[in-house]
Amino acid sequence: MRLTPSPLDSARVRADFPMLDSGLVYLDSAATSLKPRPVVDAVTEYLARYSANVHRGVYAASERATAEYEAVREKVRRFLNARSTREIVNVRGTTEAINLVAYSWGRQQLRPGDLVVLTLLEHHSNIVPWQQAAAATGAVIEYVDIDDRGELRQDQWERLLARGPRLVAFTQVSNALGTINPFVEMTRQAHEAGALVLIDGAQGAPHLGIDVQATDCDFYAFSAHKLFGPTGAGILYGRRELLESMPPFMGGGDMIREVRTTGTTFNELPWKFEAGTPAIAEVIGLGAAIDYAEALGADAIRAHEVDLTEYAIEALSTVPGLRQFGPPAARRVGVLSFEIQGIHAHDVASILDRHQVAIRGGHHCAMPLMERLGVAATSRASLGAYTVREDIDRLVAGLHQARRVFRL
Ligand code: PMP
Repeated sequence: MRLTPSPLDSARVRADFPMLDSGLVYLDSAATSLKPRPVVDAVTEYLARYSANVHRGVYAASERATAEYEAVREKVRRFLNARSTREIVNVRGTTEAINLVAYSWGRQQLRPGDLVVLTLLEHHSNIVPWQQAAAATGAVIEYVDIDDRGELRQDQWERLLARGPRLVAFTQVSNALGTINPFVEMTRQAHEAGALVLIDGAQGAPHLGIDVQATDCDFYAFSAHKLFGPTGAGILYGRRELLESMPPFMGGGDMIREVRTTGTTFNELPWKFEAGTPAIAEVIGLGAAIDYAEALGADAIRAHEVDLTEYAIEALSTVPGLRQFGPPAARRVGVLSFEIQGIHAHDVASILDRHQVAIRGGHHCAMPLMERLGVAATSRASLGAYTVREDIDRLVAGLHQARRVFRL
């Protein structure tokens, strides 16, 4: 694979992303990142040249598919710095990873009155599975509030920890505001309070990465598609003893050791949690995506984004009637959430689309957060390694245009 020098050489990076060829200003990376050519090529190569099933065939194509698929597990282990590939479970995305834990651990372990702590920054996929688990077990959910900048309230967090939760589940980075939570410190505090810790890394993995041993979290979930990879693949990291103690989430092929009409014994980790034919092409794409992200370099990506975020905060502040949400650039990833007085977020996005600028308007799957902010929706521009200052300039020009359309 071609290496792009660090710090980011924007022109070279952009040339890797075919979606940008059309002149599109893509500012929706928090929803899904664009895919670079090496990822497209890796997926195409599998589909065109060795698209056999894994773990079964003894012929060359199947052996190659199995080898490439399992090699990605080792790549992910390294990316997360997990102890063992047994702790790396392939799932369809963050949503499935959290559901796996909420079903498999939650329904077995939670008792009536047990406390699960979430935060108001959570995506619905880190709320709804816990509500379902609570409804099934009688457990209770409490949420950590935020302050006016969109950062978690430490006093509330400590008060809830003092009540001895069984589990805390929080996002590493807010998808709606970009807030970076102090996830290492939070994990330490939650463990001191006797709770297990699940971190939603959907937004964290692409922007910050994680060292699961240094962080010492119990579970970590992320999706390939926000990290330059394909949709339909994601990872659940779980501490081995915990995964060993949990029953399978789904039953079917591959997750078994032996099936008889009278009962079944289950496969060992991690395959115990991988029922059915996996997303082979997508997992292979995830491997190429991790290679790509590592070649750019996490520090270079982060530095590029902080610089652009500062630039964007400044540029947006020139638009009359525009109110921004979220913490300072140093404590957020490249997410710009804002509202323009007198224009609905969906109208903002539609007008920008006419100028080939793609942003998101809505509740960003974080309705409790929107309610707390006192808004129905925000406009959200989110950045990636391929974003450049000209993209921000085009956004701001489009916003001025939107104000003219609405005669503001
Ligand atoms: N958590 C966060 C913070 C997210 O941003 C997202 C995706 N928007 C998810 C969870 C869900 O990820 P997926 O849809 O890939 O399962």
